[in-house]
Amino acid sequence: MSRTKVVPIPVMGRHNINAYLLLGRRPVIVDAGTPGSGQKIHDQITAHGVDPTDVALIVITHGHIDHFGSAAELHRLTGAPLAGHVADLGPYRSGRVREPYLPTGPMGRLMDRNQKLHARAEPFEPAVLIRGETSLDDFGLAARIMPTPGHTAGSVSVLTDDGDLIAGDLIANSFMGLIPGKPANPPFHDDPRQNLASLREMLALNPTTLHVGHGTPLDPDRARQWADREHDRLARLEAAGRLTTRSE
Ligand SMILES: [Zn+2]
Ligand SMILES: [Zn+2]
Repeated sequence: MSRTKVVPIPVMGRHNINAYLLLGRRPVIVDAGTPGSGQKIHDQITAHGVDPTDVALIVITHGHIDHFGSAAELHRLTGAPLAGHVADLGPYRSGRVREPYLPTGPMGRLMDRNQKLHARAEPFEPAVLIRGETSLDDFGLAARIMPTPGHTAGSVSVLTDDGDLIAGDLIANSFMGLIPGKPANPPFHDDPRQNLASLREMLALNPTTLHVGHGTPLDPDRARQWADREHDRLARLEAAGRLTTRSE
């Protein structure tokens, strides 16, 4: 079995916002950062010895602007096709996230005031439409795209055959990476319960490491313990009638 190397590509700060470079038989990029970060991602993958025109695929994990913001630009810079899940086509085609954001806590309520999160990104049309579990073998990677809905309806993760899970915003680090290795919710979830179910589904596949959009890699056992506490927290919120979920 060929080993797939997972290389974080910082888009903002050391690990506030991450894209990822997956190195298998061919290179694959996961996520495209905020608008205007295409060149930065391009230069970093070049610094890792990858010819950008060799990139086989750019997988966008979901329709939030800090993940698809530079998708169109990165596609132009590399020539690689973009892959995205059909359920987030609205944001991809319009360049706008679904509004309003649904905060998971105080951090989300604070971040919601940041106008950059409400800006319009350059729209794009995914050449590769994800509708279910999808092997990346044809793109030179011993890995699968796994639908992990909840954070947004069209959220996906990438699971390598080695057990690395590139999880997007399925889970994050506390305070967006300020406390490295401490699991937490990202600032927003469209459907917290569905997201937790997706997270537990992925953890049941026994990944070795979770690589997240915001923060440093997470240990699956810590994520499991966190998921149990989160389950109880959501149950309390629901009992109090305070659990908000996007209905469409
Ligand atoms: Zn997100
Ligand atoms: Zn994010």
